[in-house]
Amino acid sequence: MKITQVRAVAYKVHNAMTGWKISTGSSDLHELIFVRIDTDERIFGVGVASPGATFISGDTQIHHLELINNRLGPAIAGADPFSLEAITHKLDSLVRGAERAKAGIDLALHDLMGKALGVPANRLFGGAVHSAVRVTRLMGMYEPQEMAEKSKSVVQRGYTALKLKVGTTLKEDVERVQRVREAVGPEVTITIDFNMACSPKEAIQRIQKMEPYDVAIVEQPVKAADLRGMALVRQAVRPRVMADESVNSSAEALRIIENGAADIISLKIPKMGGIFKARKVAAVCEAAGIEYLVGTAPGSRLLDAANVHLAVSLRNLTLPCEIGEFERMANDPCRGLEIVEGISRPPPGPGLGVDVDLVKVGLAG
Ligand SMILES: [Mg+2]
Repeated sequence: MKITQVRAVAYKVHNAMTGWKISTGSSDLHELIFVRIDTDERIFGVGVASPGATFISGDTQIHHLELINNRLGPAIAGADPFSLEAITHKLDSLVRGAERAKAGIDLALHDLMGKALGVPANRLFGGAVHSAVRVTRLMGMYEPQEMAEKSKSVVQRGYTALKLKVGTTLKEDVERVQRVREAVGPEVTITIDFNMACSPKEAIQRIQKMEPYDVAIVEQPVKAADLRGMALVRQAVRPRVMADESVNSSAEALRIIENGAADIISLKIPKMGGIFKARKVAAVCEAAGIEYLVGTAPGSRLLDAANVHLAVSLRNLTLPCEIGEFERMANDPCRGLEIVEGISRPPPGPGLGVDVDLVKVGLAG
């Protein structure tokens, strides 16, 4: 089997709930890129790239669209879609970085390989060791009372884990966690994500003040490059510390481990360049005995299907994962994945197992 064509198109999804905000910026629109890879055997795969908000990733949709259509795609025409190591090496030699664009190609290849063999994507990389994964829902940063109300309605739909975006002032951040804890009760797992908003000392002070409200995990309290600062926070506070912006690759995971900077690493398919590379980061975590979970970029069921296929394959996974953000998108062109009572299961169909409306996204025929 040979790849004959790689096509990418821009597609925008927007939040059904407006006012989504994190400490570094605000966005209600998510610019995605759908990628279709065709072969000489009439089997094709569809993936999605999530360039992410520019204030997080520094990437843009227009740049990644041009990279996939004019550089990365043509470079793999003629290749065997099953030769993932060779394809990944070729794309890395051609373009440094741009992992979010490469992840779109990686997902389309996994969809394609699964369809060619008639198996769900997770069977391509070791199969499922978990039948289901508990889902963490993300709460954008709002006024404390509004956040508490929004959190309560999510928990009433069966979710048992929440991640609260924080990172304004000490008083507001502590009040956010307090109000949410009071609204959702003692059983819900609460993670807070600073998105790098604090200095190490500010972070320590805020996290210690939140102690009565039982925060399980603190995500990326300090700047991505400040591994010593993160290690300081980790030593000073009770919740486990998770690295997100600090880890985009296996090499960065190793730096985190060497510096004792985190207890948990957030594996993300977009920032790490796809499932194939994210699993290599997972292997580094397993070797070091450090925990991981699957994090996400908001977007489509297609990405979250890939997220759940990855999550069920991770032998050391015990923590809830970020697999339900498609629920807050108003115009996802995909179907075939739903969260039931806060639990996600991989779609049983071949490939990623999600139906993409190809006419709607502009990739029909
Ligand atoms: Mg994060």
